[in-house]
Amino acid sequence: MTEHQVQQILSVHLPGVDGLCAGCRWWWARLAPYPCSQAEWASRWHARVATRRFLDGLP
Ligand SMILES: [Zn+2]
Repeated sequence: MTEHQVQQILSVHLPGVDGLCAGCRWWWARLAPYPCSQAEWASRWHARVATRRFLDGLP
């Protein structure tokens, strides 16, 4: 999984007006409450990479 793919997941799986994940509904006609497992996974991945980058950047 590349950062680009993770960014794509994050940009598609967004909260809809009814509290359901808009990305899951549009892509898979699936009604999943937001954050869905994809959004949770992608934001966890993103936070981990951002933390590592921040720590690497420290003197
Ligand atoms: Zn979703």
